[in-house]
Amino acid sequence: MNSPLKKRVALLGSTGSIGRQALDVIAANPDHFEVEVLTAQSNVDLLIEQAKRHKPNVVVIVNEGGYERLKEALAGEPLKIFSGEKALSSVVQMESVDVVLTALVGYAGLQPTIKAIEAGKTIALANKETLVVAGALITQLAREHRVNILPVDSEHSAIFQCLAGELHNPVEKIILTASGGPFRGRKRSDLTTVTKAQALRHPNWSMGAKITIDSATLMNKGLEVIEARWLFGLGASKIEVLVHPQSIIHSMVQFEDGSIKAQLGLPDMRLPIQYALSYPERLKNDFPRFDFAQYPSLTFEKPDTETFRNLALAFDALDRGGNMPCVLNAANEVAVAEFLNDRLSFLGISEVVEQCLAKMDYIREPRLEDYVETDKMTRIRANELIR
Ligand code: NAD
Ligand code: MG
Repeated sequence: MNSPLKKRVALLGSTGSIGRQALDVIAANPDHFEVEVLTAQSNVDLLIEQAKRHKPNVVVIVNEGGYERLKEALAGEPLKIFSGEKALSSVVQMESVDVVLTALVGYAGLQPTIKAIEAGKTIALANKETLVVAGALITQLAREHRVNILPVDSEHSAIFQCLAGELHNPVEKIILTASGGPFRGRKRSDLTTVTKAQALRHPNWSMGAKITIDSATLMNKGLEVIEARWLFGLGASKIEVLVHPQSIIHSMVQFEDGSIKAQLGLPDMRLPIQYALSYPERLKNDFPRFDFAQYPSLTFEKPDTETFRNLALAFDALDRGGNMPCVLNAANEVAVAEFLNDRLSFLGISEVVEQCLAKMDYIREPRLEDYVETDKMTRIRANELIR
């Protein structure tokens, strides 16, 4: 078999849930991938361990307080060490990087993703918040620089796989599946006192805290609707959300002739991570296989947007366009962090998001500085609402 040149990966957020699984995928395929850059926010211990094992040429610790300890621990290793937020934006532009896997969480992904696209790097995108905040700008920039944005999110990977070979065939709609989260079937009155421990218990996936709460509120699906709008260039009316509690069908595409293609598999993020890195090739692996006989029933239901207001709010923000999805994201980031700090109730999350969407100034065609300002001002507003 022809072995392609190894892809050299800059992994932003290597210590997180996606980051750690990405390192497993890379380590299992040494003929295909090589770790060039590892970055983390503040988990110095894990970053040290990862650097020793995966031998990157560069590591970045964003939180500057961790720099000295990292430097000391890696003194014997032939690598460069940087710290601070700005370092992310420069390391993604290095000549030696082919692919930037954005596995960091939240708005922090925006600037490094822009810099990576400007440098012509392929983007394997896990950080959906970047497309939610500034999808128009990011996709325009990617077109200008002829850069591929390959989805890591399982639903979007599924759609991307269903679209392979269908370049000229119009899509009637896409069906994004959602597990429904730990509170599926509950009503608002059941949710007034839910705790963060309950909200953090996702039925099918083990993920970082922020996305796990987003899954419980259905904001994750709302963010994914907006992500899909930009990745696949489809209006909101062509994006449908369907609750599928078993998380086996990762999403579907319906074409103009009514035919529906679906992508299935066990819930395991290593597969979409691997596909984004190996695309357009598929690589053999030993992940557990899905067995139909073990799942005699796959079930489906409509999402309950009255209980889970965030999904409706995300559709509204997408509909209004401009900087509204950026407002939605910033308000949600603040609200989720405060919920995790026990300073906001579960239902309070969508109240904060709703009020920010109602109160923040609308900008129809935001430029980068408008997104930056919108994010900042929305965070201030959201914090005021919570205090
Ligand atoms: P996580 O919290 O487990 O990990 C986040 C990583 O980002 C860590 O390495 C952390 O050090 C780094 N980080 C956090 N804040 C940062 C900041 N301000 N600046 C720089 N780095 C920072 O999160 P995760 O679950 O791995 O999710 C990462 C991204 O992937 C999110 O955008 C999430 O929506 C998306 N995603 C995750 C999953 C999943 O299964 N975990 C699935 C689909 C999409
Ligand atoms: Mg997803």
